[in-house]
Amino acid sequence: MHRICFLFSIYLSTVLSVQTFAEITPYLVTGFAEPKIRVRVGQSLKKVIVSGTDLKRTFHLGNKLKVFPGRKRIKFNCDSFGHKNRKKFKKPTLLASLNSMTGLVTVSGKKYMGTVDIVTSPKSDSCDVVQETRLEDYISGLLAKEMNSSWPLEALKAQAVAARSYALHKMKTNQVSKTLGRKAHYHLESSEKHQVSGSFFDMTRSTDLATTETQGEVLVTPKGKLTPIFFHAKCGGKILRPDQVWGNTVIGYHKNPKGGHCIGHGKKKWRKKISYKRFLSFLKWAQKKKLINLKTKISGKKKIKILADSKKRNSIRLYWGDLHLVVAKPIFRRYFGRVLFPSNNFSLNWNDSKRAFAVSGSGLGHGVGMCQLGALDLAQKGWSYKKILALYFPGHKLEKAY
Ligand SMILES: [Zn+2]
Repeated sequence: MHRICFLFSIYLSTVLSVQTFAEITPYLVTGFAEPKIRVRVGQSLKKVIVSGTDLKRTFHLGNKLKVFPGRKRIKFNCDSFGHKNRKKFKKPTLLASLNSMTGLVTVSGKKYMGTVDIVTSPKSDSCDVVQETRLEDYISGLLAKEMNSSWPLEALKAQAVAARSYALHKMKTNQVSKTLGRKAHYHLESSEKHQVSGSFFDMTRSTDLATTETQGEVLVTPKGKLTPIFFHAKCGGKILRPDQVWGNTVIGYHKNPKGGHCIGHGKKKWRKKISYKRFLSFLKWAQKKKLINLKTKISGKKKIKILADSKKRNSIRLYWGDLHLVVAKPIFRRYFGRVLFPSNNFSLNWNDSKRAFAVSGSGLGHGVGMCQLGALDLAQKGWSYKKILALYFPGHKLEKAY
């Protein structure tokens, strides 16, 4: 599953035409199976209730297998189990796996395809629930959560490729948890931190079609290596590179793609306020964390002047008394959070009479990679998913992984 084979190889450039793709001669390499992905769908649960028809339960401690004919509801008391075995399960341990003859297992009212694993949490006083399923089924369920199943097919297909690339990279690197490392029983979480995954009822004809029509396709670096592929809800006019937001250079992201196709969709602007006191605490934090290059100690009761936004740099420049400060915009979001800073695309103004900062921004999410509302707009205008992906990922190639 870790090897990328090439059924066809398409180089994406900013200038695309249909002919570019038609000229490619496919490499006929077969025999690489579609991998299974493990996604954590429940975390630190004291009790887990699994139900289904003709359930098969495997207890991994002792390898005991039991089949339950008809409808069955199985309860796992993870709190009491963990208490008795606290020392035994210092590390996350796979307790049980459940699957059904029907292919569907219900956990906390949600229906999942594939196998459901019950794993002890690191503190062993609760359980995590992990869904193990075909990668393509996972992608189909995810599309309705990350986008909307009623969106045009080409937008869903672009999302399918982006989400598959993201998931496959996570699976390959297996660095889901900094504390658990390779011992983690899952590849990624179902959360905004990673990708929000759906369940069986989120899968529709349209999400299935978007998945099958792009089966196995992933975005890779020019050298054919897997790399993290990012996406966000709305750029609000500006697409950022990973280094501009997280400080790390990611292979493949070497150009500045054009955003702004999302302008007519979603919320136009967002406005927030920050008090002088909170801003001062923020600057002191940023200095302590060495996020701003400043040797002099920052103190309060200073005159403030904000300089005009530089289009080249994604930073706020201001005078704090005599000190000239340059603060990268993503640092604000890291400190104040996603509620106060829904995106990294904003400008700042100082209101001297109110002694407060006014923040005015657009967009939603980190702003790196594909803008989902932009993809919607382009698909509505008739763009193909390949053309959409080429716009947001100009430094990448599209390849078939299996
Ligand atoms: Zn956008």
